[in-house]
Amino acid sequence: MTAGDGTRDPFDAFRADVDVRATGSGATTRAATGGEAGHRSVAVVGGAMAGLAAAHAFSRLDWGVVLFERQTFDEKRVNCGEAMTDVTRIPLAKTAENGFANDTPTFEVQVFTGDVDDRELAGTGRFPASRAYVTDRALVERAWASRLRANGVDVRENTGVSKADFEELCETHDLVVDATGQPSLASKIEGTTAEYAGAMTALNADVEGDFSDLYPDSRIVFENYLGYSWVFPKSESRANVGIGWAQDRQPESYMAAFEAACERNDWPVPTREQANVYTIPRGPSLDPDRTWLPDRGVVRVGDAAGIANRFTGKGISQAIESSYLAAALADAGALDDYPDALYARLRDEYRLAYVVRGALEDGRPDILSGVMEAVSGIDVEDVDRNPRKAFARLARHPVLVANMLGSKPMLKRAWRAWTNDWEFKHLDATAR
Ligand SMILES: Cc1cc2nc3c(=O)[nH]c(=O)nc-3n(C[C@H](O)[C@H](O)[C@H](O)COP(=O)(O)OP(=O)(O)OC[C@H]3O[C@@H](n4cnc5c(N)ncnc54)[C@H](O)[C@@H]3O)c2cc1C
Repeated sequence: MTAGDGTRDPFDAFRADVDVRATGSGATTRAATGGEAGHRSVAVVGGAMAGLAAAHAFSRLDWGVVLFERQTFDEKRVNCGEAMTDVTRIPLAKTAENGFANDTPTFEVQVFTGDVDDRELAGTGRFPASRAYVTDRALVERAWASRLRANGVDVRENTGVSKADFEELCETHDLVVDATGQPSLASKIEGTTAEYAGAMTALNADVEGDFSDLYPDSRIVFENYLGYSWVFPKSESRANVGIGWAQDRQPESYMAAFEAACERNDWPVPTREQANVYTIPRGPSLDPDRTWLPDRGVVRVGDAAGIANRFTGKGISQAIESSYLAAALADAGALDDYPDALYARLRDEYRLAYVVRGALEDGRPDILSGVMEAVSGIDVEDVDRNPRKAFARLARHPVLVANMLGSKPMLKRAWRAWTNDWEFKHLDATAR
């Protein structure tokens, strides 16, 4: 099928793409597993980025799909910075009507040293954003859901799934995709919500003001506390602003800290009513083995699988990738490979994020600014999703690397990252 302008409709692009990516060869398809088109059914619970991607993928693979979302798509409240750093896998035309507001060309990262009230700019990284948009995510989700519905997916909005409903879905479908965010519905049912090892708490708001100095660029600000703030303009007069902290180092009052950050960065100060508060899992916050529950026939994707980036808090690309991977493996009858395959894709990202985040945790913004300047120029999506590029850049800065490894806490972090010694392994065993 082609879109109105003669180009290929992005909705149709999924199949060839995922077959190759999931199997490495494109060879493992339904024919190889003996399944029959249309005879398998999947219930997807949660209709945000991960759930929509899962519904899209399974429908393209000819499964019968029912998608449950507890909010209505017309009134959905989204808790997110709304910067999508790779929109290429979202099967929609990138129009303002579909929520793609600002084709932002660059993410600028500023790192300050000193106290927040007496800060000094220590370094700046500029990251091209060739596949990124700042979005109105509610519009993206609405358009995506509507497209799914038009293509035969049974989209049930305003339909929260209870624990009892979920158990029933497990009985009546070949597979259930848990895309309910963190903590996931599956963990609530199993009484293991404590199996997630940490998150970031973040506040954000859409505000109106004059962003003409920055627009169309976007900016992230590190200020020597364990977290960061951001301004992602949607136009010259509208932006998403926000702030996040590691959960073990939160301020006394989220709102007061958010207001203060907006004031010192010269951004409009949101009202309490405008602000959303939410948590972001920091990957790997869940034991990867727990992402596939074969006894229940439940696969977890997106935040439910605990995979957002532990340094940047970015989780949309990861959510989409996990869903497409789960669908391709399910279709090939190979979901037992999902935990390892997902972890293999994310491991380098986890390592880079864990070590770099250590610079903030250990009060070394000087190291963080050095890292930002060293990796400046790499596409913002590649910094997370293709971290080998960042590692290669760092290798060209031996003094910086020596500084990093000269710091005992950083060295310990590097060791823990390379030996896969993640926090979830140190949780109380009963939680898992
Ligand atoms: C303040 C903030 C800013 C962020 N900024 C960015 C950013 O700029 N870029 C980026 O890439 N990432 C960002 N992230 C991370 C990103 O938002 C998440 O990683 C991403 O939303 C994960 O998507 P998801 O679909 O897995 O889960 P969620 O977005 O949490 O969606 C879960 C969905 O499931 C539905 N649901 C839950 N329970 C049920 C139920 N029982 N029945 C039916 N439906 C249910 C919910 O209504 C929701 O729609 C940010 C996060 C926060 C908190």
